[in-house]
Amino acid sequence: PVNRSPEMQEERLKLPILSEEQVIMEAVAEHPIVIVCGETGSGKTTQVPQFLYEAGYSSEDSIIGVTEPRRVAAMAMSQRVAKEMNLSQRVVSYQIRYEGNVTEETRIKFMTDGVLLKEIQKVGCGSWLTDDISLWSWFMSLERNLPLKLLIMSATLRVEDFTQNPRLFAKPPPVIKVESRQFPVTVHFNKRTPLEDYSGECFRKVRKIHRMLPAGGILVFLTGQAEVHALCRRLRKAFPPSRARPQEKDNDQKDSVLPQINLDHYSVLPAGEGDEDREAEVDEEEGALDSDLDLDLGDGGQDGGEQPDASLPLHVLPLYSLLAPEKQAQVFKPPPEGIRLCVVATNVAETSLTIPGIKYVVDCGKVKKRYYDRVTGVSSFRVTWVSQASADQRAGRAGRTEPGHCYRWVTQAPPQGRWPVEDLILQMKALNIEKVINFPFPTPPSVEALLAAEELLIALGALQPPQKAERVKQLQKNRLSCPITALGRTMATFPVAPRYAKMLALSRQHGCLPYAITIVASMTVRELFEELDRPAASDEELARLKSKRARVAQMKRTWAGQGASLKLGDLMVLLGAVGACEYAGCTPQFCEANGLRYKAMMEIRRLRGQLTTAVNAVCPEAELFVDPKMQPPTESQVTYLRQIVTAGLGDHLARRVQSEELLEDKWRNAYKTPLLDDPVFIHPSSVLFKELPEFVVYQEIVETTKMYMKGVSSVEVQ
Ligand code: ADP
Ligand code: MG
Repeated sequence: PVNRSPEMQEERLKLPILSEEQVIMEAVAEHPIVIVCGETGSGKTTQVPQFLYEAGYSSEDSIIGVTEPRRVAAMAMSQRVAKEMNLSQRVVSYQIRYEGNVTEETRIKFMTDGVLLKEIQKVGCGSWLTDDISLWSWFMSLERNLPLKLLIMSATLRVEDFTQNPRLFAKPPPVIKVESRQFPVTVHFNKRTPLEDYSGECFRKVRKIHRMLPAGGILVFLTGQAEVHALCRRLRKAFPPSRARPQEKDNDQKDSVLPQINLDHYSVLPAGEGDEDREAEVDEEEGALDSDLDLDLGDGGQDGGEQPDASLPLHVLPLYSLLAPEKQAQVFKPPPEGIRLCVVATNVAETSLTIPGIKYVVDCGKVKKRYYDRVTGVSSFRVTWVSQASADQRAGRAGRTEPGHCYRWVTQAPPQGRWPVEDLILQMKALNIEKVINFPFPTPPSVEALLAAEELLIALGALQPPQKAERVKQLQKNRLSCPITALGRTMATFPVAPRYAKMLALSRQHGCLPYAITIVASMTVRELFEELDRPAASDEELARLKSKRARVAQMKRTWAGQGASLKLGDLMVLLGAVGACEYAGCTPQFCEANGLRYKAMMEIRRLRGQLTTAVNAVCPEAELFVDPKMQPPTESQVTYLRQIVTAGLGDHLARRVQSEELLEDKWRNAYKTPLLDDPVFIHPSSVLFKELPEFVVYQEIVETTKMYMKGVSSVEVQ
């Protein structure tokens, strides 16, 4: 029995999905797989778990699992559903890679895809819901005797293609369409394509809407968190909260159209504003960069000639995936009486979260993605045009409560990015799905990417290499079916990328496990160090940055040590940084003083714990624990660690170009890798930057002004 508050009940009843409860539950009772389609905001995520709960689908050993493609959504939705049901977060909980609040009482669990993949191997029953159609495929392999109920919920699914595909369903599953209460949205195109300064264009558009158009919330889509903060700051300056109680004297004015202003007369902002986009919003499960910029600007001062307009306050809120949950929750609260809401968001607001009261959408038309080239191992963040489907989703956000407007710029088709699929393949193989290439993915990765991933897994020893003749035959047919090895099974139990899993699997000897775990945790979390190369806003800041850079460089040299330990390079720095930080109690003060990101250090701590547990499960005799006072590795351990790292990163090998090859100047201090024609370089932040060992392995290549190797360690080649 659920005891909801009357207000909550009333709010729920407004959602279109409520009228479909019975239809959905009957379908679930009769079919193993049910598809629910409905516009974003129709109530799929918040309501369907409640239907199942009330119908008795959860018990002590059978929970309702809900996957969300994003971790913000997993957290926010678990809180929301707990609140709607008047239940504690002990019962309605969430689990993301590094954290969660799941208890023995948990009956509804929101989680990310990655967590589910691990779970699938252990759990046999329960009801699962998924908002991400890529995941349903996992279940399909189990379809025959599905010991669970699966609901696939989507706003964008082209259902016919999907249900009528006989490779997927012998008998098409029932599809329940939720009537949508979408109001029409007028899309206004801006002919002038914003080349670089789309943040500036968005600013001007918001300013115009706020000054000229009737009441209604504004939602702005930008690409990254630094941009979001910059625009928030700029808008708060332009429309500061008024000191007096707002809107008291002319209360009835708030809905009237504001006077027309000729926009051509606006002063232009100084160039450079809006290109603060140096920082990437990292792929969510990948770890985090969070600069924790100060959001609260006391005075709305001058901004390049703009006059702040305190008579027209605007309630400006940021929203991006790594924002603290309390701050995220702000967007769901009604804005102060009579003040317009303006949410400046990244892609998270596109499908996962529905913000109430939005009437205007301003879409920069771009999205930031992490691109990873499987073949070369180069990864980079790129801002690209969004797809038509995304643009439509974004526009749709404006029509939830009344007819709305969307402002966007003329877009082009997005280029296709390639994503690492090795982990996916390994997990599938561990589930005994051997012919991965034949697997009917709804959105299949390219054959090229699948082949490359399988090659890597064979090279890592996770899959059995086929006989040469057999392989040729397989390749001709694009049909690979290498079975998993015992090593591969062990690797699949570690919640990290296969390369790193291999390192862990190799580290049993010489007491190296605690070090390998620490290195792998640090490499997985990435970006331990603060970004210190950013432009400074003032002379004081410049001085501060300079002295901090010097301090960090010195600490890195200390942590890397000399002789044998220096050969482990940047990975030795990671070990030293984590060791020293934990020794000091991992305080924000220590991190601040040494240019370490506190948040990253906390994530590494959690991941070390999690990896230690995973390793103990495979090899209990190791009796591992996370030692906050971990001693530095001995010289022979360092040597062994270098071998382990080389085994994991073996295909990321680079050789310094020999002097006779120094034909052109661009090859000075350059390295050559088997996969790239262009020279690559050791990143200046590396402790091996000046050492220039003959052979190195690297964690990744990042392309900025040049191709730079990061996470570099030297290797001896016999
Ligand atoms: P769907 O999954 O179909 O996209 P949701 O179940 O996420 O829809 O959302 C249903 C409704 O609940 C939306 O109108 C949304 O604004 C509202 N909602 C979701 N989370 C919150 C929250 N934390 N506070 C207030 N309203 C919320
Ligand atoms: Mg949803």
